[in-house]
This record gives sequence, C-alpha cells and structure tokens, in this order.
Amino acid sequence: MNESGLQRRHSAVALKTFTVTWALLLLAAGGCAFADKGQSMAVSVEQTEQTEQIETEIAINAYVSDLQYADDPFILVAVREAMEGRKERNGGIGACLVREETGEILERGHNQQYEPHFRSDLHAEMALLNRYEERVRITRSYDAVDRTASNPRVHMEGIVLYTSVEPCPMCMARIINSGIKKVYYAAADESGGIGHGIENLPAFWQGMAKGIVVEPARCSPLLKELAQKMFQPMKIPGI
Ligand SMILES: [Zn+2]
Repeated sequence: MNESGLQRRHSAVALKTFTVTWALLLLAAGGCAFADKGQSMAVSVEQTEQTEQIETEIAINAYVSDLQYADDPFILVAVREAMEGRKERNGGIGACLVREETGEILERGHNQQYEPHFRSDLHAEMALLNRYEERVRITRSYDAVDRTASNPRVHMEGIVLYTSVEPCPMCMARIINSGIKKVYYAAADESGGIGHGIENLPAFWQGMAKGIVVEPARCSPLLKELAQKMFQPMKIPGI
C-alpha cells in the first residue's frame, strides 16, 4: 500500500472511531436523560405519597369521635395504632380490646411483623392478644371430684376486639381460640379477610366460633376511610 492509500485507510479508521465514539456518547447521554426522567418520576411519586401520608396522619390526629356511631371511640384507637404501625414500617393495622360493659380499653396494639425484625405471627390482633394473655395469665382450675378443668376462654366473655381491618384467617383462628365473641372491624378486606366468610372455616373452627359476631364496625364513614388509607400497601421505602 502506498502512502496515500495508508492515509485513506487511517482516515477511514479515524472516521469510524469518531462515529462509534459519538454514537456511544449519544447513547450514554440518552440513557442518562432517561434515567434522570425515571428518577424524577420516582421522586415525584414518592413525594405525592409522602404528602398523602402526612395528610392522612393529620386527619387521624385531628379526628374527634362522632358519638352518633357507637364504635367510633374504639375504632379511633385502632386507627391511631394502625398509624403507629405504618410509621414503624410494620404495616398500617391496629386493634384494641375493650370491656363491653364499661368501655374500658384493656389492651391496644398494631402490626409488628417487620420491625425490629421479621415475626410472621405478629399481626396487630396477635400482638395484642399475646400481650393481654401474658399480662392477665388466666389459669385453669381443676375440679377434684369430677376431674375436669375449667375453660380459660370464659374469662374473655364481655371483651370485644376492635380492629382497623377485617381479620385475616390466621388472626381469626387465634381470636376464636382466645374465646372472644365479638369482633368489629373498620375497613373490609375482601381479598384477605375471613370475617365475612366464617362459614368457609373448617368444621371444627366453625364449631369453636359458634355464637361469635364478626361484623363491620358501627363507625363513621370518614374513620372507615382513614382505616382503609392506613391499610394501603406501603410503597415508599422508609414509610
Ligand atoms: Zn392477621
């Protein structure tokens, strides 16, 4: 190859390198712009959700029980617990135990499933019942004559469980086993709740649940809406 041939070849290689380099630069720039756009969209969604979360918390903190609804004061306790659960990144479900005759709140709790470490059993109702049973420590008495033991569940008569969301099957089985006979929930959970379908439980559990009342709470529509908002999946890391 003569000198001019070599020059032409060098020029062609240089042009090719130049073209590829620019193509890569343009691709990179496009990619960056795309990433920036995606990032800013994510930030904007995050900001919107954070704003909604804060607005809901303000509404819950400002809510005053509407006494035309019998369950409002207790559902409000449950919803405030739900808010605590959500702030802890544990999920927005709360519950409380109430002595029906006096309105005394015996125990309250919220979901503790994820923080400080994963505990698959610690839904709000489970955590609350664990604490109550551990505190009260009901013991069975034995009849020396007919050698029978008393049923500890009778101690739960007159105690009502209020929860911000319809109980799941795990919690429902626990509630039934505890002896609680009345459960009122604020937000329905059509896909995960069993409160509206006790008849779907196995026969033994239906027998255990005989006489139990599991119904939507008699609370205000606004409180129900706030309970539902707390129950929404947590999409934002940190909330
Ligand atoms: Zn549950």
